[in-house]
Amino acid sequence: MSAVPVFVYHSVNTDPPPWIAPYTVTPRVFAEQLDRIADAGLTVVPLRRLVAAIRGGPPLPPRCAVLTFDDGFADFYWTVAPLLTERALPATLYVTTGAVHPPGGHPEGSLLPAAAMLSWRQVATLDALGFEIGGHTVTHPQLDAVPAQRAWREIVGCKRRLEDALSHPVYSFAYPHGYSSAAVRRTVREVGWTSACAVANAFASADGDPVRIPRLMVRADTRPELFTQWTRGGGAPTAPLSESLRTKGWRVYRRSRALLGRPAGGPPGSGTLP
Ligand SMILES: [Zn+2]
Repeated sequence: MSAVPVFVYHSVNTDPPPWIAPYTVTPRVFAEQLDRIADAGLTVVPLRRLVAAIRGGPPLPPRCAVLTFDDGFADFYWTVAPLLTERALPATLYVTTGAVHPPGGHPEGSLLPAAAMLSWRQVATLDALGFEIGGHTVTHPQLDAVPAQRAWREIVGCKRRLEDALSHPVYSFAYPHGYSSAAVRRTVREVGWTSACAVANAFASADGDPVRIPRLMVRADTRPELFTQWTRGGGAPTAPLSESLRTKGWRVYRRSRALLGRPAGGPPGSGTLP
């Protein structure tokens, strides 16, 4: 099977808070990118089709793509969902449950800085409209850098919270910042997530690991030429990829920062935040 671009977006907005601005595209650019995907002849399939293919199920169409959105920004409801609905395109939205606004109250709390986030009512409406709702932890920690018990609470806690809110099982998970470890991935499988997305800036393939699906991050500075290259199967390697020494070394650094209570940001130029 050919390389599958699994795109990851965050906010789609003309006026994002500064912290998320590097990971935000404007609605106009987003609509242009959807056009580029169509122009390249790609079929946008739900993430579950890719996961089924990885698990030996029905093969995917010859050339396809997957759309995913992380964190749970309110602009998914106001801006993204209408643009996808008018084109009949599926997508998966990974929600940080501690950042979601309950009716008339405050969110339970997350590490994400302030931004306009979805309400539980909007999450339920998006679910009813057919968008897949997935989990992105409760508070958005770096799962491979926190103690195992905390990681477990984050991984299982967001699943329970989403299932309570939506009254049906949820299956798809995405690692905050894209970070995972073998122990984190084992926990993800054990608590019942059937797939999990990373970042990796690589194409996915049916030979990959369902709890380590690589994605291509679309950023504010993603050049149109690069996006077009991605839609044609170029501009990035194809997974499965082995974990680089640089990634392992960086994790040791982030763990030591986490122990000191000073979480580190992203590695310079890694493109894996937030
Ligand atoms: Zn995130």
